[in-house]
Amino acid sequence: MNLPSSSFVVHQARHVETLVTGRPTRDGAGVRLTRVLTGDLQQRLDPFLMLDQFGSDDPKDYGAGFPDHPHRGFETVTYMIAGRMRHQDSTGGEGLLQNGGVQWMTAGRGLVHSEMPEQEEGRMEGFQLWLNLPAHQKMCPPGYRDIQSADIPEFHTPEGVLVRVIAGQSHGVLGAVARPASAYPTDPLYLDLHFSADLTFCQPLLASHNAFVYVYRGAVQLQGAQGQTHDVGLHRMGILSNTGDGVVLRGSAGTRALLIAGQPLHEPIAQYGPFVMNTRNELMQAVEDFQAGRFGR
Ligand code: MN
Repeated sequence: MNLPSSSFVVHQARHVETLVTGRPTRDGAGVRLTRVLTGDLQQRLDPFLMLDQFGSDDPKDYGAGFPDHPHRGFETVTYMIAGRMRHQDSTGGEGLLQNGGVQWMTAGRGLVHSEMPEQEEGRMEGFQLWLNLPAHQKMCPPGYRDIQSADIPEFHTPEGVLVRVIAGQSHGVLGAVARPASAYPTDPLYLDLHFSADLTFCQPLLASHNAFVYVYRGAVQLQGAQGQTHDVGLHRMGILSNTGDGVVLRGSAGTRALLIAGQPLHEPIAQYGPFVMNTRNELMQAVEDFQAGRFGR
C-alpha cells in the first residue's frame, strides 16, 4: 500500500450541475446494460464519449457478450467489479479481465476485438468508459494494457477512504495509468472510492477539466460553497460544475463511487457506432478501411 504524500485544502468546491439517470439498453450480442453517458452529453463531458454500467446475476443478461467488432479513434477503459471477461483482438492480443482489474485499450487507427464473458453463472458487474483521442492521435497504432487488480495503486486517505487510482493522481499517488499530459492531452483522472464509515474525500481538480461522479453503492453528498450540499443517489451520475479548485464528497459505510475527470479536447466529434473521428469523411474512410479488412494489422 502506498501512503499519501501530500495534503491540501479545497477552497471552493464544485457543485452538482446536473443529475443524470442512465438509460437501459442492450449492446453487443444482447448484453443488458445501462448507458449512463449518452451521445447528447459528449460535448459537455468532452473528452468522455460514453459510460456504460453493467451488472447482473443472470447469465441471460450478459452471456452473449460482445463478439467481434471494430473500434477506431478513441480509447476504451473497462473496469471489472465482478466477473471474468476474455478479450481477443486482431493484433494478436488476448487477455482475461477479472474482479477489480482494468483493460485500457487504445483503438487508434483500428482493431477488431471480442469481449466475451468467461463464466456461465454468477455476477458480472463493471463499467466501460470511452475516452476520446485528440485528432493527432486518432490514427496511432492500436494497443492495450491489461491491469490486474493487484497492480492498481490503492491507499487510504488520512480520514480512511480507500482510493483505487486507475488513472491520474490522487493525494500524491500515481495511478496504474499515469501518462504525461504533454503526450496525452486528455489527462484523465479515474478514481474508485470506497467509504467504510461516514467519511469525507477531497480531490483537487483543475477548473478546465470536465468531471463527474457515478455512484454504484449507497449515495454521496457533495459539499458545495457556503455550506450547500448536493446529493447524488445510487446509480446516478452527477455532472460537476467547472468552478472552484476541487471536489469534496461525503459517503457512508458501504458507499462506492467513481470520480472521473479529464481535459476537454474542444475538437469536432463525429461518431458512427464504434468509430469516433473529427469529420464525416474520416468516418467514411473508417467504414471503408474496416470493410476492406485493413483494421488491426
Ligand atoms: Mn469493444
